[in-house]
Amino acid sequence: MKSVIIIGIIVLLIAGVMFTQNKASRAVKSVMGDTSALRQRVLWEKATEMPFSGVFDEFFEDGTYSCAGCGTELFKSNSKYNSGCGWPAFSSAMTNGMVEEEVDNSLGMRRVEVHCKKCKAHLGHVFEDGPAPTGLRYCINSISLNFTADKTQIPKQSKEKK
Ligand code: FE
Repeated sequence: MKSVIIIGIIVLLIAGVMFTQNKASRAVKSVMGDTSALRQRVLWEKATEMPFSGVFDEFFEDGTYSCAGCGTELFKSNSKYNSGCGWPAFSSAMTNGMVEEEVDNSLGMRRVEVHCKKCKAHLGHVFEDGPAPTGLRYCINSISLNFTADKTQIPKQSKEKK
């Protein structure tokens, strides 16, 4: 009788652990699903992520930003600045010509949309209110980009021993 009760308790414990793990994996899946769904809508349906929500809005590491659709390099960090508009802003695109412009008359406004020349993924818009010398502000969705840090960064000095 005792052994039946012990086996019963063990079975309940295992079921509890399995249920908890399942719940956790469902939560992770739903967060990733949401990000991936938003990325699809921005890249291929020209949606816009919420202002101040993107990972690269307040991000200023040295490196290169590439297209989240196909990996083509599009922007360098040395052209990135804090415009305060809520999206990553660049004063210029890379000179490789892979950021292509197109007039966008949606939402009752005349704007210039920018997309990846290679895969046509939507990136954002370019406005003529940026800093000198270009006077341009490429206002780009974080979710349209991936970032690769420069390999030549100087390693941080370890604290000196007293
Ligand atoms: Fe692309």
